Order: sequence, then C-alpha cells, then structure tokens
Amino acid sequence: MGRRLLILGPPGAGKGTQAQVLCRALGIPHVSTGAMLREHVEAGTDLGRLAKEVMDTGDLVSDAIVVAMVAERLAREDASCGWLLDGFPRNASQARALDEILGDRGIDSVVMVDVPEDEIVARVLARGRSDDTAETTRTRLAVYREQTAPLVELYEQRGLVRRVDGVGEIPAVLCRIVEVLAE
Ligand code: AMP
Repeated sequence: MGRRLLILGPPGAGKGTQAQVLCRALGIPHVSTGAMLREHVEAGTDLGRLAKEVMDTGDLVSDAIVVAMVAERLAREDASCGWLLDGFPRNASQARALDEILGDRGIDSVVMVDVPEDEIVARVLARGRSDDTAETTRTRLAVYREQTAPLVELYEQRGLVRRVDGVGEIPAVLCRIVEVLAE
C-alpha cells in the first residue's frame, strides 16, 4: 500500500479525526491545511490574522498561501516516506499545484468519505469550532459542492478514488478506510 494519501469529503465528514488515527497507525505525518492555518491564527502571525477573516466566513484562504504551506511541509524529512493530506487540495488550481509539487510519483490513493448533507450540518454545529456557525457552515458546504467535489472526478479518472461510507461510529468508519486502502 502506498503512503501518499489524500482524504476528501465534505466539511464535518470526520476527516480530521479519521486522518489523525490513520496517520499514527501508518507512521506518516498528518498534513492538514486547516490545522496549520489555525496554528497561525492562535500564534497571532500576520498570516493568521489574514486567514482568520476568511476562515470566519467559510470561504477559502488564497491558493498562494496554502500551496506554499503544503510545498514546505511535504519537503520536510518526516514526509519522505509518505503523508496524508487533509483539506488540500480544495479546488482545481490547488490540485494542479499539488501535481507540480509531487512530480512523477504523484498520489497513491484518495479516500473519499461520503456523508449526506443533513447529517453534516448537524455534526458541524455539534463540533463548536469558532468557524462553525450555521451561516459559515452553509458557505463551507457551497464551496465544497462547487469547488472541491469536482476533484473527486479528476482523481476518479486516474483510478485513485476509494469511497467509504462516513456514517457511523469513528472506529467503524476507520475500519472501512483501512479496508479500502488495503484492497
Ligand atoms: P478545515 O479544517 O479543513 O475545515 O479548514 C478550515 C478553514 O480553513 C476552511 O473553511 C478554509 O477557510 C481554510 N482552509 C483550509 N484548507 C484550505 C485550503 N486547502 N485552501 C483554502 N482554504 C483552506
């Protein structure tokens, strides 16, 4: 099984939680652009201040910022035998940038976590993060539908997508992910 992985799915699908456990088990870094941006916000950097304004609306932070963050992260030593990208790429231009960063070897698998929209809204509101208001959630879902969901087709054409039912308890979903990755 290759260890250059993407996890895709709507906001609130539980990607972050699944990704954390999976990465610990596989011994690869969990590269979450959302988490990296939140670290900047907490540290009060200029980038963090800039990003927070956008994150609080549910829109996407500029491609240039996240692409630079990912390029720098994947170049580090601990990413040499694999990684799991969570929350990136979010649109077609980020997907192209990722192809350029990766060059020939590319991505091994894309895990697509499927969760119906009604369930997502309920889950996100229960999570209670500062960008988790009803309004922001609606924007994030719209952004996902319009910009991120089309990437599934792109990776499907490359035969990389492994679909997983994201409804259920965390260990059950994790078990499904491990199963599809082992296929
Ligand atoms: P997440 O933790 O992945 O839900 O991301 C939280 C917020 O961070 C998103 O709503 C965006 O505002 C921003 N963000 C995270 N990843 C990206 C990305 N790849 N491109 C642009 N903005 C992002």
